[in-house]
Amino acid sequence: MIEVKNLTKRYGKQLALDNVSFSVKTGEILGFLGPNGAGKSTTMNIITGYISSDSGEVLIAGKSILDDPKDTKKSIGYLPELPPLYNDMTVKGYLEFIFDLKRVRLPMKEHLAQIYKTTGLENVTHRIIKHLSKGYRQRVGLAQALIGDPPVLILDEPSSGLDPAQIIEMRNLIRELGQKHTVILSSHVLTEIQAVCDRIIIINNGRIAASGNMDELTGTGKGTKMLRIIAEGREQGIISALRNIDGVSEVYKKGETEKGCYEFLVESTKDIRRAVFRAMSRTDFSILLMQPAGHSLEELFLGIISEHKAEKED
Ligand code: ADP
Ligand code: MG
Repeated sequence: MIEVKNLTKRYGKQLALDNVSFSVKTGEILGFLGPNGAGKSTTMNIITGYISSDSGEVLIAGKSILDDPKDTKKSIGYLPELPPLYNDMTVKGYLEFIFDLKRVRLPMKEHLAQIYKTTGLENVTHRIIKHLSKGYRQRVGLAQALIGDPPVLILDEPSSGLDPAQIIEMRNLIRELGQKHTVILSSHVLTEIQAVCDRIIIINNGRIAASGNMDELTGTGKGTKMLRIIAEGREQGIISALRNIDGVSEVYKKGETEKGCYEFLVESTKDIRRAVFRAMSRTDFSILLMQPAGHSLEELFLGIISEHKAEKED
């Protein structure tokens, strides 16, 4: 549905994007995760045609936004980081104005009523935008993006500045929208991305540092699992008992944790926790700890950001 190919963008000397490529399938909710200054907004601004890239291209449903800007833009609803709201207008006045601006060919009243309902704005349509809370203003921004019923939604940090209750509401709303739209959602907050996205791209320093679904990113995917085990007994005996378990592909020694107790990382192609328990109880070995040992996404993310810091400090 969306194909981003080799985007590079400089602001003066500053390289904001360095050969960024990825694609988003129809119906997917893609999370774009990265610290401030990573290049998220720049990428989104290029995808939506608001700024141009120095090189590379973006295809939406096979069409380049440059070849066919009008039609391609119609297929995208964009909630920028700072939504361009007209603060002195009423919610209704503003959304009707955007409806006209986008030259939408749907029955206006019904279409807007549907959007008020989806975004929970029904009770504030006659309020002046600047009198609304930040949470409601953000909903108006989202409503604006939904006008014309575009198949693709690009949401740049939609939860920034919201309080915890509003963040939960926004997440639920995005999840709901994800059932009918292809969504790219950016955030610098890991939990936000984890909560709503099917797939995650981690961007740092203008480059894609990692991508995949949660399992792939945390190293528990591709059929391999890691289990951290501490057991008491004879080291070699424990190792051979573990190696004999069906599904175990490798046993790594980590060392003695206390006298007579050894730590191992066991790689396997399936869930072996019960088999480990039985294997240990058949011998005279005791399990002191057994714990899944993929990376957590948080560790991965922090690792990527700190690499970035190290690079910068050099
Ligand atoms: P993010 O949205 O991930 O926080 P941005 O895409 O806004 O990151 O910024 C990426 C980099 O480009 C940052 O280093 C930022 O300072 C720089 N940048 C963004 N917009 C401009 C601009 N209009 N002029 C100069 N530098 C910019
Ligand atoms: Mg940004």
